[in-house]
Amino acid sequence: MDGGFLLVLSGPSGSGKGTVSEALMKNNDDIIFSTSVTTRTPRPGEVNGENYFFATREEFEEMVEKGELLEYAFVHTNYYGTPKKFVFDEIEKGEIVLLEIDVQGALQIKEKYKEAVFIFLIPPTMDELKSRLVKRDTETEDEIETRYRNAFKELDFVGEYDYFVINDVLENAVSSIENIIAAEKLRVKRHKDIKKEVQAEEERDKWLYHLLKN
Ligand code: ADP
Ligand code: 5GP
Repeated sequence: MDGGFLLVLSGPSGSGKGTVSEALMKNNDDIIFSTSVTTRTPRPGEVNGENYFFATREEFEEMVEKGELLEYAFVHTNYYGTPKKFVFDEIEKGEIVLLEIDVQGALQIKEKYKEAVFIFLIPPTMDELKSRLVKRDTETEDEIETRYRNAFKELDFVGEYDYFVINDVLENAVSSIENIIAAEKLRVKRHKDIKKEVQAEEERDKWLYHLLKN
């Protein structure tokens, strides 16, 4: 089986990317989160190397210069980027690598990696988005306002994505993404040796087992 691919999840701040990603990874062992590097300061409770790799502006610029990032962008008021090596290593192992990144980063990935899958997470309403940002209580009033204003601009890019998912009831949003992943796993283009897989009896059994298991 081939199998690994990039799963890009974008959506306005507060649309629920973090919450949805966490639920997805709880249920699906083959989805691996790509931890980004950022110059933003950690929020209370955030762990370096887990939520993000927190870096200084100089450290971030050095990574850019050395070509260590798959994509990067200036989002709201800080730099964010995806370390390249981790992503390639995991895809090579057949994992689905989840990138929770903004639209600018997603467009860079789209230019370079045609086989990536792009999902845009949408809040049920803009009022609900605002109220989730306020309730999350992780930003100042000004920062919330910046994120809310940027949300309108980000929504303009939904047409660049393969799928949209509305995050109204969390469980429904998660299962929609699981359905997308299930369909993507069955794309013929992701199984370059599909004839061989079917023809060789032993391989075929393995293939059917894998399909049934997932
Ligand atoms: P993002 O990662 O896109 O910025 P979060 O995952 O932090 O968004 O979600 C923003 C806030 O909304 C959090 O407080 C989270 O608990 C809440 N939230 C996420 N999804 C839902 C949902 N489906 N229904 C209600 N609240 C939600
Ligand atoms: P936050 O500061 O709320 O964690 O994230 C702010 C925004 O940065 C979110 O829209 C998030 O998707 C985006 N982001 C996080 N990591 C990356 C990354 O590696 N690259 C890009 N381009 N955006 C990212």
